[in-house]
Amino acid sequence: MGRLPTTMPDQHPERRGGALKRTLQTYLQSVADPSPIDVVRGLDETVQPRTEYRCLNPVCDQMCAWPSGYAAGRPTRFCSRSCRQMFDRVRARLAWEVDTLEEWLQHADLLAKDRAALERAAGQRRWALERYPVTGVGAGQPTS
Ligand SMILES: [Zn+2]
Repeated sequence: MGRLPTTMPDQHPERRGGALKRTLQTYLQSVADPSPIDVVRGLDETVQPRTEYRCLNPVCDQMCAWPSGYAAGRPTRFCSRSCRQMFDRVRARLAWEVDTLEEWLQHADLLAKDRAALERAAGQRRWALERYPVTGVGAGQPTS
């Protein structure tokens, strides 16, 4: 089994009574031949993922909470339908523009200054597109 980083990106070490809380990985490594009961107990005693994260629309500051309580629904990744739609629209536009600019960059007869302008524009769009990941977003996933 490969070694995982001790601190996962969503598991910032929490302090409890001045001591660093263990991760689930550390906890399970400390138990010889762990049983399902150990795993469940470990969930309570180790670093938790946050119960709120920012809306996945990179230009939105709203939070999305992990659903809890009796009426808990599906967890949402976007704070609103309009944020999800904006995310999809912006992502599609940026992806189209990157593809189109890269096609234009294949032209052999480009002036050096035009090539530089197209490369700069494509680079900025690729940089923006990194804020709009495909993973876990889109068809077959929760819709809001
Ligand atoms: Zn939002």
